[in-house]
Amino acid sequence: MMADGESFAKTGMNTKLAHIGYEPHGYFGFVNPPVVHASTVLFPNARTMATRDQPYIYATLGTPTSNALCRAVDTLEGSAGTVLVPSGQAAVALPMMAFLAAGDHVLITDCVYAPTRQFADLVLRRMGIEVEYYEPRIGAGIKRLLRSNTKVVFTESPASNTFEVQDIPAISSAAHAANAIVMMDNTWATPLLFTPLDHGVDISVHAATKYPGGHADLLLGMVSANAATWPRLWEMFLALGIPAAPDDSYQVLRGLRTMGVRLAHHQKSAIEIASWLEHQPGIARVLHPALSSHPDHAIWKRDFSGASGVFSMVLASASQAHAFLDALRIFGLGYSWGSYGSLAMQADLADRTVADRAFDGALIRLQIGLEDIEDLKQDLARGLKAAGCAAQPLLDQAVL
Ligand SMILES: *Cc1c(COP(=O)(O)O)cnc(C)c1O
Repeated sequence: MMADGESFAKTGMNTKLAHIGYEPHGYFGFVNPPVVHASTVLFPNARTMATRDQPYIYATLGTPTSNALCRAVDTLEGSAGTVLVPSGQAAVALPMMAFLAAGDHVLITDCVYAPTRQFADLVLRRMGIEVEYYEPRIGAGIKRLLRSNTKVVFTESPASNTFEVQDIPAISSAAHAANAIVMMDNTWATPLLFTPLDHGVDISVHAATKYPGGHADLLLGMVSANAATWPRLWEMFLALGIPAAPDDSYQVLRGLRTMGVRLAHHQKSAIEIASWLEHQPGIARVLHPALSSHPDHAIWKRDFSGASGVFSMVLASASQAHAFLDALRIFGLGYSWGSYGSLAMQADLADRTVADRAFDGALIRLQIGLEDIEDLKQDLARGLKAAGCAAQPLLDQAVL
């Protein structure tokens, strides 16, 4: 039986997902790895303790459970090493802590996940790091923002809530020419639909809370690095002492096994619903990179091998947003995404500084879950109908 990532290098994605990371015969033939709850690992004698010459040393450095997930993710990302941290937010913070110091300059896409901006504004600025936000569609134009002290260019593509697609290869080559390293929050695509390290990125970050977990029952972050950046990432991971918990790591590995088939369903339903929404009355725009109407469709098509299930739409009148959301019965109102259940929320772009904020209406983000598509369409139609009915009274209130 094949075990390591190498053996699955040439198989199809779903075959990989079913087998990577763990070798059952290394643990009595049990199909899944044990969930190792641990701190101490015993050494057989003083010499081994002194040389640390055994696979596991202490649980902060890894366990058979975390190792199974890390090796699986390395196979998917093509990374030299992966660390697991307690949330996606921690996965964003860790590599920035590892590669930035006082006096450095960091460039961050202006359409970044909002808590990433909070981390940069609160923590990085306080550390004496100069934080600058750039327009996500800047592409090779990032060259003119790069300085001698620019150490990191942080990307996220497609963008949170507005789904601008970044020209990652162009940004990466400009950054590398200036000796900066490139990080990417790849949560939307998962390593199945985009592999950042193959497109010039040095460190890829995921909120495994989303599709890898897939069931809205855990928080976990993953950071995967290429060979050049791995030692420094690993060093900071140990220094901060933020390993993920064993049960969550196990659940994410479990989630990976079905992520391919789940994503295929999310993709199909989301594209069908997004195309359908484009023709519904009351919708000003649909922001989904797989639609030919999307301004960055060509870049998405060039770089990504598919789309996940999250996109946004713009309701023509801002005052209709609450009526729309309150009429939904299948879509839940809540944050996060990547789980089996559909979700809706109104996005707020007030924190953006240089990117486009004018969407002429209410921006609603939809996560298309695994429910039957006709039921989801009916639910959205119910929302749109309520929005149409509610537009007038709400407008009147605004005038008063
Ligand atoms: C959700 C999310 C995160 C943070 O993940 P948590 O596990 O919720 O902290 C980071 N980046 C992006 C793009 C996300 O959508």
